[in-house]
Amino acid sequence: MAIDKSKVVIEINDLKKYFPVKSSSFFGKNKMWVKANDGVSLKIYKGETVGLVGESGCGKSTLGRTILKLLEPTDGQILFNGNDITHMKQRHIRPMRTDMQIIFQDPYSSLDPKMTVGQIIGEALTEHNIYKKGQELEDYIISVMNKCGLDDYMIHRYPHQFSGGQRQRIGIARSLALNPDFIVCDEAVSALDVSIQSQVLNLLMDLKDDNDLTYLFISHDLSVVKHISDRIGVMYLGDLVELAPSNDIYVDPKHPYTKALLSAIPTSDVEKQKKRIILPGGIPSNVFPPSGCKFHTRCPLATEKCKQEVPEWREVAEDHFVSCHFYEKTKTMGN
Ligand code: SF4
Repeated sequence: MAIDKSKVVIEINDLKKYFPVKSSSFFGKNKMWVKANDGVSLKIYKGETVGLVGESGCGKSTLGRTILKLLEPTDGQILFNGNDITHMKQRHIRPMRTDMQIIFQDPYSSLDPKMTVGQIIGEALTEHNIYKKGQELEDYIISVMNKCGLDDYMIHRYPHQFSGGQRQRIGIARSLALNPDFIVCDEAVSALDVSIQSQVLNLLMDLKDDNDLTYLFISHDLSVVKHISDRIGVMYLGDLVELAPSNDIYVDPKHPYTKALLSAIPTSDVEKQKKRIILPGGIPSNVFPPSGCKFHTRCPLATEKCKQEVPEWREVAEDHFVSCHFYEKTKTMGN
């Protein structure tokens, strides 16, 4: 399905999600916060797949869950199909839940081991009164299972009787059964072997075309999102630092962090291996993030200005956004 830029499925504006940290002071006056998302803005259009990448702990999974209101936002705005759901109570969100789904990373822990595949896929359908228990429901479940590459006879089996790839297909079928508009795929293939990863990625792409879906595809692995994403966003320490069409991210990364992530993709090319950019240190605490540009403690291009001033989020080429004072110098890195 082509991307329809006239229809915005998800719009988030300056979205923040902070988690409180236990205060060490007796009266709890100096309350501290883990700033998991620190003011993220993004639009996702109908039929689009936006990939979201970054190291573990950068806030990408929290962002996916906050967009779906599985976590309450601290500040900012979330619009779903034009409806402001930011402060909507869960009982009002509930009817919309069928339209917004999530596929989790670990297909085993996200499936109830005591339920059969049929029960797992059918549970939300009966809860939302889409189907009553009976033959019609069973026929529908089987049709969704078949779409996801699962055979009819598997309907009575339990999760432990399946391989990792098949379990992820069950998770996908559970989400798809509700006929959603939008799915957050949260590290949906990360737990799978590489050969199974590509099968599940192909399935997700086919289902997207057949069912007019829109995805937010979260992964720590840039080589995985490449194949599935129309645009890619790169997150660092709770912020979106770069957003561009998928090909542009790979061919012409503008942010030093993106360039370093790309250089770390395993390759058999010896020349590319030599150009790997090793970032010093680990990710700083997002309770006390660095001043100015949060990446300055690890950035090979950092200057005094980077320590003082937060870089502006700006469009530096068509549909290519970045927050870096010296993005023009990124191409010199690793040369
Ligand atoms: Fe590096 Fe400075 Fe750009 Fe931040 S603003 S990414 S520290 S060059």
